[in-house]
Amino acid sequence: MMMEPSGTAVTRSPEETRAWGRRLGASLKPGDVVALTGPLGAGKTTLTKGLAEGLECPDPDAVCSPTFAILQEVEGRHPICHVDAYRLPEDAPDDIGLEDYLDAGWVVVVEWADRLAQFLPEHAIWVDLAHEGPAERRIVWSKGISAPIEEEDLKP
Ligand code: ADP
Ligand code: MG
Repeated sequence: MMMEPSGTAVTRSPEETRAWGRRLGASLKPGDVVALTGPLGAGKTTLTKGLAEGLECPDPDAVCSPTFAILQEVEGRHPICHVDAYRLPEDAPDDIGLEDYLDAGWVVVVEWADRLAQFLPEHAIWVDLAHEGPAERRIVWSKGISAPIEEEDLKP
């Protein structure tokens, strides 16, 4: 399922991770899927806020990991469906309605995407975040990003 990595970057602050997300968000088209993986605190939500910003969301800080909801709708140049599969039960429903969002031209962003991998389309862009240090994170992404993200694009 996971594609070959096509790039890697190290960020040194939450702002840099957010800037990386912003850059990615600016390049997203309707029906795109961003599949985020990595442990708790790796920066998936931080990256998603940037992504919403790149999609011209008027209130990117409203993006959060909802405590009870699995799915959050976020405004943007293309509407964004933010899914957090962390609390998805083991016997998860095999259909949380993602296809409807994709068909309707939403951008879908999934945290803990490995838990929903079987329901994500082939064209999903996989982005893995890992702790490298207290404020350092390694971002490894799969092919599918049209514009390569350069080191200088990370600057907030
Ligand atoms: P996740 O959604 O993966 O659980 P969050 O984005 O909610 O992670 O939280 C990441 C935490 O790590 C935040 O408290 C953030 O301030 C901190 N952090 C420190 N350095 C970084 C970095 N380089 N990138 C992203 N987050 C960082
Ligand atoms: Mg999160």
